[in-house]
Amino acid sequence: MNKLILNFKSKETKKIKIPKNFLGGKGANLSEMGRMGLPVPPGFTISTKVCEIFYRNNKKLNSKLISQIKKELKIVEKDVSKKFGDLKDPLLLSVRSGARISMPGMMDTILNLGLNDKTVIALSKKTSNGRFAKDSYRRFIQMYASVVLGVESYHFEELIENYKLTKGVLLDTELDENDWDGLISDFKSVVKQKTKKEFPQDVHKQLIGAISSVFLSWESNRAKVYRKLNQIPSEWGTAVNVQSMVFGNMGNDCATGVVFTRNPSDGSNEIYGEYLINAQGEDVVAGTRTPQYITQKAKKEAKFKEASMEESMPKIFNELRKILKKLEKHYKDMQDVEFTVENNKLWILQTRSGKRTAKSAVKIAVDMVKEKLISINEAVLRIDPNSLDTLLHPTLDEKSSIQVIANGLPASPGAASGKVVFTSEDAERLNDMMQDTILVRVETSPEDIQGMHAAKGILTARGGMTSHAAVVARGMGRPCVSGSSEIDINYEQKIFKTASIEVKEGDIITIDGSSGRIILGDVPTVKPEISGDFSKLMNWADKIRKLKVRTNSETKVDTKTARDFGAEGIGLCRTEHMFFDEERILSVREMILSKTQEDRARALEKLLPHQKRDFIEIFKIMRGLPVTVRLLDPPLHEFLPRSDKEILEVAKIINADEKEIRSRIDELHEQNPMLGHRGCRLGISFPEIYEMQCRAIFEALADLKKTKQKSALPEIMIPLVSTEAEIKIMKDLVINTARKVQNENKTKIDFLVGTMIELPRAAIKAKEIAKHAEFFSFGTNDLTQTTFGISRDDSGKFLNDYIENKIFSIDPFVSIDEGVEDLINIAVHNGKKQNKKIKLGICGEHGGDPKSIYFCSKAGLDYVSCSPYRVPIARLAAAQAELKKFK
Ligand code: PEP
Ligand code: MG
Repeated sequence: MNKLILNFKSKETKKIKIPKNFLGGKGANLSEMGRMGLPVPPGFTISTKVCEIFYRNNKKLNSKLISQIKKELKIVEKDVSKKFGDLKDPLLLSVRSGARISMPGMMDTILNLGLNDKTVIALSKKTSNGRFAKDSYRRFIQMYASVVLGVESYHFEELIENYKLTKGVLLDTELDENDWDGLISDFKSVVKQKTKKEFPQDVHKQLIGAISSVFLSWESNRAKVYRKLNQIPSEWGTAVNVQSMVFGNMGNDCATGVVFTRNPSDGSNEIYGEYLINAQGEDVVAGTRTPQYITQKAKKEAKFKEASMEESMPKIFNELRKILKKLEKHYKDMQDVEFTVENNKLWILQTRSGKRTAKSAVKIAVDMVKEKLISINEAVLRIDPNSLDTLLHPTLDEKSSIQVIANGLPASPGAASGKVVFTSEDAERLNDMMQDTILVRVETSPEDIQGMHAAKGILTARGGMTSHAAVVARGMGRPCVSGSSEIDINYEQKIFKTASIEVKEGDIITIDGSSGRIILGDVPTVKPEISGDFSKLMNWADKIRKLKVRTNSETKVDTKTARDFGAEGIGLCRTEHMFFDEERILSVREMILSKTQEDRARALEKLLPHQKRDFIEIFKIMRGLPVTVRLLDPPLHEFLPRSDKEILEVAKIINADEKEIRSRIDELHEQNPMLGHRGCRLGISFPEIYEMQCRAIFEALADLKKTKQKSALPEIMIPLVSTEAEIKIMKDLVINTARKVQNENKTKIDFLVGTMIELPRAAIKAKEIAKHAEFFSFGTNDLTQTTFGISRDDSGKFLNDYIENKIFSIDPFVSIDEGVEDLINIAVHNGKKQNKKIKLGICGEHGGDPKSIYFCSKAGLDYVSCSPYRVPIARLAAAQAELKKFK
């Protein structure tokens, strides 16, 4: 691009589309509309390149640029047949910022530029509307003084308010031309007093001052903060759009409004918007007058009395409708358009892609394919996979007013309200009485599983995105806010405190697991609705993607849900979660606390039939599909009895006295249970536990075979392996157990044996480990924990500080970190070197995160596995990864 300043109708380029990085978003669209022949008020864009030059030149426009601006202005003057500063029919300008990405309200705008003591009289005469002219002039003085001259706006507001008090009126609209005349003189005195200079009367000086100020506003504090929050690079700079003013407030043949080309909330293919007669853009936004509907249909549906635009301005309405069609066809997306009608002439001021709900986004994308506006691939790429969450869970009715009392991590999406309870028993008891509860715990443990099921939502003070509460709640589809360090729980008094309030047992709260908000009182929720369009989009995604999508599940209900959502198998069945049931947890405690092998064998015998039954159910639901069963991997402390009652209970069963049990618990106590006696380390110390689990799996398969029922294909997974010897010993154990069950049942059993890669050493030594593994599944929860040395359960306390200080751009337990990615790449490379056919997947929580899924696709994994409610998100994200991979 040779020219640094481009007229909207410039023939400079043959292409209609000009890059947004040159003209900014607003400028590029104005330019495109100009060259499409749409009624855009004439003007030009000063490119972002000039912004760069401006800053290099000591924050000044050089003379060459100033003469270019003047040249462009001449073209505008010719176009509108008005002259800038003219004493008969003066051209007035708007000067607005326009960055590459819209930064609403962050930079400056100046309207009505070109008015001075003389041109205001010309405008008054020309429009025969003295009040309008004077009102425009005082607005301009106020805006220009505050943006360019640094005189704060409140000085002017105060003058208006005092004047209205003296006159005994309430509204600005009650002031007439003479009133404004007096105020203009007062405004100018304020400028003189504050700046020691007269308000500039030279219109060209006004223009250069305004353009420079817009460039300077790129470095204003608010713009800098916004850029930081939204990761917008400061070197982008802003463009400046200089455009002739059009007025929607010159009489009853004028109007201004905003319109979407389709309904942004439900996606229906009809225009939707609001307008006001005899008003300026800011009146629509300010809410001082209630805007009217654009279409007759919307007006009727809202039972609104005031005329729709379709009725009051039928000709212009039709013209607008045609333009909206044209814009949609050109941009191939739903547009959000600002317009003004000046003396019965329609002007389009701005167009941009419209913000919409997830429901509307899906419908619009599917409809646009039917209308042949976009391709299937484009439709699939258009939907933000994370936004689908709102379609799958109840969400807060955002129209309700809410009182947020604290915040935590958005651990499991959806919203729920209920009475605060502090124990699982209370959640269950109230559930039996058909009452909704929110279970509030410092952190949850396996005993809480029933309570978590009984509660409508879970709130914890400790624990990160992969804490027990977060993982279990996501699996169940229960909303959960975890790790809220802003709440202080006192179990004894049955209260929790926040900085501002004390909440007692029985008080009603609402949690929003999608945003992490904790709200006082009941907030209405909106139920999810799964439409035909959603299924269609999912089918398209499935045809595109190469990555398979499995689920993390160990219960019948979750497995069924996941299958209904399209899961193609189970990528992680955490067998310890199958022990949570009240009856079984006792046997698990018995097993852990047993002193002798015989005692342990007795406890395991009790668990075997339960495990076998569970596997039969799951294998039947996932028939024909792979099911990865992970052998026991809990930090043992999760299962230890805590209360006196629980301790006595186990003591009785294993025939020990209470003291002995307490000393055994002390013995088992670990300083860092996450790095302790867990995973295959348990299998090494107590091989009988893994043998029992393998037996349960193989007997389940044999039973299904005998009764001629179709089964899933089990993949037995050894957790927390870091050395070749560990996997070798464990693999031998699995194979020997299989052999025994095959002989006993005289049948052949098919299965795979593999391992999780969730420790850095395992990733680095993947070549050796792959000698004994038919598959690798990346356990990125532990891999992240051990790569950083950050405890999964304690990260909630300080991760926010890391994010605020930009050390992490995102929680590494949510989106895979680069260092962890490197380890995965090493493991994939080395694993494949040893075994070309090794099956590769991921089962950490990252398996449901779109950004991480993109990485998995590039890294060459075969599947991702995620909690049931994220399966549709992963299906879409996997398709997008495939489409983006080759770009
Ligand atoms: C992991 O570590 O990523 C994993 C899936 O296992 P868990 O979360 O059960 O430790
Ligand atoms: Mg793990």
